[in-house]
Amino acid sequence: MTIDLIEARRRMVAEQLEARGITDARVLAAMGEVPRHRFVPAELIDHAYDDAPLPIGFGQTISQPYMVALMSEVAALRGQDRVLEVGTGSGYQAAVLAWLVRAVFSIESVPELHERARRLLGECGISNVNLCLSDGSLGWPEMAPFDVILVTAATPGIPRALLDQLTPEGRLIAPVGEAELQSLVRISRLDGRWHEEYFGECRFVRLIGKQGFSA
Ligand code: SAM
Repeated sequence: MTIDLIEARRRMVAEQLEARGITDARVLAAMGEVPRHRFVPAELIDHAYDDAPLPIGFGQTISQPYMVALMSEVAALRGQDRVLEVGTGSGYQAAVLAWLVRAVFSIESVPELHERARRLLGECGISNVNLCLSDGSLGWPEMAPFDVILVTAATPGIPRALLDQLTPEGRLIAPVGEAELQSLVRISRLDGRWHEEYFGECRFVRLIGKQGFSA
């Protein structure tokens, strides 16, 4: 029997996001609207609103709903922002961002995932996401600067190329650390210097690239 997906999404927002301290009303609204079940493999549709990441093929994952919400909240998104996401994956985080900001740019390095995300975002009628197939550890210099950069894969350090593509008030959010365990970090400029804030531990698949982990 197929579960009630709308009720499952409502419960996800209430029990996984609000109950854990996500307070940004726009983030909660976006996650209440975006059909996460469209972005998971068909055989996992009944688990789309589970409190967990899920496999999407090619050894990659769609992130846990709470992590999507936390990264979106920590980014302090404003409607006029231009946002770069590194690691399109399923396209779900990009769809949430598309609901929240003016323009989203998202880079993926696995061709099949890039193509699938393009199709799914199109099917959902989302037109303010621009996708690119390349090594996102180098950013997207032609489209820079960005108000926010979200890195949705684990990185051993903050790629210099990404910092160079932020606006002066820009924020970069990334899971930084070892391949097995990272800290969620927000980097912004304060009095002309880079300022780091930490938002707990997390586990992401690796960013494989010139300024990420080696393959
Ligand atoms: N944000 C995604 C979503 O909403 O489904 C989840 C991202 S998944 C945790 C990490 C993604 O980063 C994978 O799809 C992986 O292929 C991609 N990735 C890894 N290294 C990359 C790189 N150098 N450039 C772009 N994407 C990369």
